[in-house]
Amino acid sequence: MGTFYIENFGCRATQADGAALESQFQSQGLQRADAMDAAQVVVLNTCTVTAAADQDARAAIRRVSRKNPGARIVVTGCYAQRAPAEVAAIPGVSLVVGNSHKHELASIAVNAPGFVPVEKLVVGTGSRLQAAGFSETSILRTTPDQRSANDLLSTTDEQRPTTEIFVSDIFAHTELLAAPVFDAAGERTRPNLKVQDGCDNRCSFCVIPFVRGSSRSLPMERVVAEARTLVEAGYKELVISGINLGRWGRDLRGGLQASGSRLQQSKLKKSGSKLQESGSRSQASDARKNANMLTALIRAILDQTSLEKLRVSSVEPMDWSEELIRLMASSARIAKHAHVPMQSGSDAVLRRMHRKYRPWHYREKILAIRKAMPTAAIGADVMVGFPGETDAEFEETRRMVEELPFTYLHVFTYSARPGTPAAEMKSPISVRVAKERNRILRDLAAQKKLEFMRSFIGKTVDVITLKQEAKCHEDQDGCLTIGLTDNYLKMQLREAHPPNQWIAATVESVVGGELVGS
Ligand code: SF4
Repeated sequence: MGTFYIENFGCRATQADGAALESQFQSQGLQRADAMDAAQVVVLNTCTVTAAADQDARAAIRRVSRKNPGARIVVTGCYAQRAPAEVAAIPGVSLVVGNSHKHELASIAVNAPGFVPVEKLVVGTGSRLQAAGFSETSILRTTPDQRSANDLLSTTDEQRPTTEIFVSDIFAHTELLAAPVFDAAGERTRPNLKVQDGCDNRCSFCVIPFVRGSSRSLPMERVVAEARTLVEAGYKELVISGINLGRWGRDLRGGLQASGSRLQQSKLKKSGSKLQESGSRSQASDARKNANMLTALIRAILDQTSLEKLRVSSVEPMDWSEELIRLMASSARIAKHAHVPMQSGSDAVLRRMHRKYRPWHYREKILAIRKAMPTAAIGADVMVGFPGETDAEFEETRRMVEELPFTYLHVFTYSARPGTPAAEMKSPISVRVAKERNRILRDLAAQKKLEFMRSFIGKTVDVITLKQEAKCHEDQDGCLTIGLTDNYLKMQLREAHPPNQWIAATVESVVGGELVGS
């Protein structure tokens, strides 16, 4: 039996794809190897969100090729989709499989045909990727032969094809790989289920839509079925996530498509004013329904399963509807945790980023969330060093971070991605200035997090114990169990508790960035 090993990079969506790839290989009759250097097929499931992510992927390819020179190295994921020829040119790579072909990756990996030189790649014409400036994106689809996995895996290096590329227009791709994954290595208590993939927005700095394609959703009944299976397997918390989770359901039958609304709008404009009036009412009602698709999904999970706690991952500011906030606030079964990407507090920068909200919209949403859920974790992604970001614009961001009730921040430094509009913008920010802005926001975020944690001293919080077994030291303070609160704070519990239990604990102190209590 052949063996495989998968290394995932990047976001939760990529981790979720990696979990689905594991099942694909198992159904092809391959077995998971314990270590990369013991596997016959090594899959590197890459990210391309920054230049550093590309660099990490290249370093990993070189590492695998050095440590396990006999392995078939398959590179997939977002970097493979964005720059397939660049990846294929790295010595040691056997196969490049873009996100467009990820749903059949294992079959390609074990059945791939003969060598196709990179220079013979057919560059697709008229593809949207090219229109977006992805000149090197190659469109190549070869027909796999039907050699068995063992035949392929037993070929020698000389017989084995060198590099093949399977990449096509991601916008034509409708598959959604879905398999629950776990947040951190070794943590097996809080599965993460990707219920949505792709994005229809076009933020000027972001390459994701071009490597993950259009927004698409896992149907409600499949989400509920997955949630039920996880509950039956004993899990007490489920995290639902997506590339643009707030758009869940809008592509599904019954979901109201933006194109449909546009069509309706143009038809109505041609008719009389009465019709126009009723048209705008119906449009407003469509918009409301669209805005509440995610809320409907959350309700279905709560109503149709006995899940103890549901955590909702990142949702774009404009998708935090009143209904969503109200539902989160009113149900003890939903973790009090809102992650709302902000990117910048400057109107001018948000416009250059092609973000769809203004700073005052963002502010309103965060304040509404805080009002409805006074103890919730509220987090944001913030980007510094976007082209042309002046000191005054950065100051607007800093002030907004200072003023809003954030409990944590993810601070990113802008990284130009080939083919995106921002990569063509003038006035890049120097590394020194970007680093300093990053540090300022991180320090501010650390201070806000500490204040938030200290506000719980003497109070009782809900904590789920994580995978790690309790550690007991007779000569020290007894036992220690690590947990995560409902509102996303790490907590050290002074007793031994089995993993995967929700317990009520009293916070005694804050030590080393974690709550301590019993
Ligand atoms: S919302 Fe913007 S930043 Fe997020 S994935 Fe879509 S395009 Fe990228």
